[in-house]
Amino acid sequence: MLKVDELDVFYGNIQALKGVSLDVRQGEVITLIGANGAGKSTLLKALSGLLKPQRGVIDYLGQSIVGKPAQTIVRDGISHVPEGRRVFANMTVQENLELGAYLRKDKAGIREDMRQVYERFPRLLERRGQLSGTLSGGEQQMLAMGRALMARPKLLLLDEPSMGLAPLLVQTIFQIIEEINRDGTTILLVEQNAHMALSVASRAYVIETGRIALSGTAAELQASEQVKQAYLGGQ
Ligand code: ATP
Repeated sequence: MLKVDELDVFYGNIQALKGVSLDVRQGEVITLIGANGAGKSTLLKALSGLLKPQRGVIDYLGQSIVGKPAQTIVRDGISHVPEGRRVFANMTVQENLELGAYLRKDKAGIREDMRQVYERFPRLLERRGQLSGTLSGGEQQMLAMGRALMARPKLLLLDEPSMGLAPLLVQTIFQIIEEINRDGTTILLVEQNAHMALSVASRAYVIETGRIALSGTAAELQASEQVKQAYLGGQ
């Protein structure tokens, strides 16, 4: 579904991605784990058209998307939930969800997806008229995910959905990620929480200072001494 080959991204003189290659097959949950500053968010931004790579290939459903505008990429079926949620604080929950569908014209489909989002996130339904800036961190994460789903993505890019959330809420968010995948959406999940990420993913990549250092099935990486030491707290 998605094939990234030898991707280089620079910020000025600083090279944030160095020849990154990975692939995501339809129906998978893939996770990319790595420490602060390793380049995880940069990769997602390149995939969703927010950053232009200096070199390399990004093929999505058999077509190159390098250089395409971000909104074309959304329309093609890739939705990005950025780090730190970024909901529109002065708009209500309902208005944020409606914005997620702004590129769509199928009113009946939008209504149906809104119903499904509220079914998946009952907390958002209770708070549909509340200003989003007053939601808790976990509720904002749910809203950011719900808004991305309103674009009816084929591929969902999630940037650190567990960041700053209490352990119980992290579990809820990961359960929802599994449900979204079960319902047919392919997921590329960026996480520092390697333990949780490896528990939902089928395959994983480890990124270190802009390079893919390791890859394999989630089970292989869970068993790897290197991963245990660096990302699983030595467990
Ligand atoms: P984190 O988990 O802390 O968000 P990350 O793995 O997502 O980390 P990136 O945000 O992709 O890391 O950053 C990769 C590298 O690029 C870092 O060294 C960072 O300092 C640098 N970088 C990121 N954004 C910019 C920017 N706008 N200008 C310059 N350098 C940047």
